[in-house]
Parts: sequence; C-alpha cells; structure tokens
Amino acid sequence: MGNLNSAVIGIGSNIGDRYRHITSAMKELEQHPEITIEKKSSIYETDPVGYTEQEAFLNAVFRITTGLEAVALLDVLQGVEHELGRRREIRWGPRTIDLDILLYNDENIELERLIVPHPRMHERSFVLIPLKEIEPDLVLPGGCRIDDCIQDLSDKEGVRKWRKSSGADESAPFGS
Ligand code: ATP
Ligand code: CA
Ligand code: CA
Repeated sequence: MGNLNSAVIGIGSNIGDRYRHITSAMKELEQHPEITIEKKSSIYETDPVGYTEQEAFLNAVFRITTGLEAVALLDVLQGVEHELGRRREIRWGPRTIDLDILLYNDENIELERLIVPHPRMHERSFVLIPLKEIEPDLVLPGGCRIDDCIQDLSDKEGVRKWRKSSGADESAPFGS
C-alpha cells in the first residue's frame, strides 16, 4: 500500500442524526486500506448557504494520505455517501452526508466528474474556518492566505464551533 498522496476532504450533513452520519462516514473511510486520516478539524454548526430553506449543517474538514488516485478517491467518497443514504435531489439541498475533495496534493484537476481544488471552497466560511484549524498557514490556490481569505467573507457568523477536535484519540472521533 502506498500512502503517497495528500488530500483534504470536506464533510457535511443536515438530515437526521448529523453527528452520527459524520462519524460513520469517517469510520468507513478510516477502514479503507488505502486511506489514513491524518488530522481532523472540530465540527462546526453552520447556517445553510445558497438554498437556505433547510436545517443547519454540521461541517468539518480532514486531511488524509492515500494511495488512491483522485478519481478513485471520489469513487470511494461517493460510495460512502450512497451507503449512508445520500439521495441527490435539490442541488445544494438537504443531505445525510456530503463528501467533497477540496485539495489533492497541489494538483489542478478538471474532469467532468471532478474539479480540484474545489471551485467554491474560497467563498465558503463553512469550509475555510475548519480548514484554517488544520492548515493555518495554507495559501489557497488563488494565492490568498487562508486568514485573509476568511477575513473577506461576509457569512462568518453563520459558522459556530460545535465540538472540539479529539486530537490524537482515534477511538473518539471529534471528541464528545
Ligand atoms: P458543491 O460541489 O457546490 O459543494 P454539492 O456538494 O452539493 O455542491 P453534489 O451533488 O454532492 O454537489 O455533487 C455533484 C457532482 O460534483 C458530483 O457528482 C461530482 O462528480 C462532482 N464533483 C466535481 N468536483 C468535485 C469535488 N472536488 N469533490 C466532490 N465532487 C465533485
Ligand atoms: Ca459540497
Ligand atoms: Ca458533493
């Protein structure tokens, strides 16, 4: 097994037991032989953006190392979404689980199924605020430092810390 690639994944849920969906998805990924979770952010509760007639989300981001190519990683993420009952209906609408590839090494990927860096991450407080926790010195692909980028966003107050990261304790994802 080669864990040669580094990727950052964004995760979100706003239907049913949101915390259980997030921890179940992470557990599934942790069990994959080609995926190692290296670092997790805290979980944040976030007001919906775009389509606002829906419940608040729980969001987090985490960094993995993986032997999987980017498209194979997307397949695994979509498999986990499907297992957890994700049904695609309204774009940006309610979902049991959403797993997005935010970054994959420092690659630019533009396929029909996969665009990396995630093209909307720069404008999303619910992505950048948790991302800053695990990558405080990150310079975003557009060249903006993550701190500065967050400063410029208008919807920061819609993102509130919900649970603290558990740090090294792998048996208790995101602490309790
Ligand atoms: P957004 O992409 O704005 O966060 P969303 O997560 O609600 O919206 P989905 O319905 O989950 O969108 O996904 C739509 C399609 O986006 C997927 O079928 C997938 O092929 C494609 N996609 C493109 N780039 C990515 C990426 N970086 N990570 C995950 N999916 C991606
Ligand atoms: Ca998404
Ligand atoms: Ca998605």
